[in-house]
Amino acid sequence: MDLTSTHPYWPLRNGLIRTYPPLEEDADCEILILGAGITGAILAERLTRDGWNVLVLDCREVAHGSTAASTAILQYEIDTHLVDLIEMIGQPAAERAYLLCLQSIDTLENLAAKIPCDCGFRRKQSLYLASREDDVPILERECAARRACGIDVEFARGPQLSARVPVPHPAALISRGAASCDPFRMAHGLLELAMGGGARVHDRTGATRIECTNDGVLVQTDRNFRVRAKKILFATGYEATTRLRKNVTRLKSTYAMVTQPLGDADIWCDDWLVWETARPYLYFRTTADRRLLAGGRDDNFRSPPRRDAKCHRQAGRILKQLEPLFPDLRLEIEYAWAGTFGETEDGLAYIGPSPDHPNAYFALGYGGNGITFSVIAADILSDHLRNRHNSDAHIFRFGR
Ligand SMILES: Cc1cc2nc3c(=O)[nH]c(=O)nc-3n(C[C@H](O)[C@H](O)[C@H](O)COP(=O)(O)OP(=O)(O)OC[C@H]3O[C@@H](n4cnc5c(N)ncnc54)[C@H](O)[C@@H]3O)c2cc1C
Repeated sequence: MDLTSTHPYWPLRNGLIRTYPPLEEDADCEILILGAGITGAILAERLTRDGWNVLVLDCREVAHGSTAASTAILQYEIDTHLVDLIEMIGQPAAERAYLLCLQSIDTLENLAAKIPCDCGFRRKQSLYLASREDDVPILERECAARRACGIDVEFARGPQLSARVPVPHPAALISRGAASCDPFRMAHGLLELAMGGGARVHDRTGATRIECTNDGVLVQTDRNFRVRAKKILFATGYEATTRLRKNVTRLKSTYAMVTQPLGDADIWCDDWLVWETARPYLYFRTTADRRLLAGGRDDNFRSPPRRDAKCHRQAGRILKQLEPLFPDLRLEIEYAWAGTFGETEDGLAYIGPSPDHPNAYFALGYGGNGITFSVIAADILSDHLRNRHNSDAHIFRFGR
């Protein structure tokens, strides 16, 4: 699958951080993690820490899948409002899903602090704007639902909002539990931690044939070697859909851009992650080198040629949406890219044992905040592998 346009942003920005050897021999391990994006890296760090003998394979270079294109807005707020999620899956599960996402940001902060390199993790506040007056009551209801389960969120309207941020929107929800990072550096950093604990990481090595039986897993690689494992974890992002008999996601196309560095200009959103109630939504944040990074304009098709052909036009439209919000800044697109991403019916990830094969597990962080779901996946799968009950697993299970 062609996950991103030719050169997504983060690998260009960072260059070659580190090289991992391809697997050039047969190997045995307890846990084989397929996929070395941010999800595979979070799992590898966690499961190595749990004491497992872990081997990670990726057919591309490390973090060159969707992770390379991610805008890495880290927030507890999923694309489905809590009030709507309550309708879909019931109050206890919906509230718990939101609270788990909130906790994930703390976990990511702790992981970032352990990583030997700076992965650009920064605490921010989330500003969820009402795109139009009609959306204001929705935000009021949403605020009440979130507060009812203990989430610290504020509803700001009219002058109360404009005193905080220079936006023309009628109202907003302001939440403290948010952050941003450089997902490419974070994935490399987490893999480094995992390797320090004994994990083996091989990229440019694809799994071409996978046999899962009750006795274990046998994987054939595209370099003609075999890996035997007790269990396999699919952290293969949007490409995992090809391994599932029942489709769980709608694949779409999305677009992103960064401006030139804005030097020491006053960028009012430096401490904020900004998004809005319109669908598809515009979202933006600053980067560590003081660029504006923005995304949106999602299209309901997956075709990579069509997606990539529209990339610069869509980035231009994103810029047009941004300009009125920054009248004092001269914004210029320095780089634009496109990517495939997937949404699920309820906005939640699919995590847990494969519905189709023994000894196989999935960590599929689909949706607008896939990275926070990857953290939840590490907790749930860590418990599964140790045969420990996880009281949250049912929220994200297959067949729900
Ligand atoms: C433009 C864009 C913006 C986004 N913005 C955000 C955001 O702001 N916040 C957020 O939380 N999420 C965001 N996302 C989603 C987020 O990027 C994804 O949830 C996350 O990157 C998925 O990581 P992953 O490791 O699961 O998948 P990937 O990064 O795609 O990693 C999967 C890996 O599996 C490997 N693989 C697949 N098949 C095989 C095989 N057979 N053998 C070996 N290896 C294999 C691939 O090569 C790939 O490297 C965005 C996505 C896009 C495209």
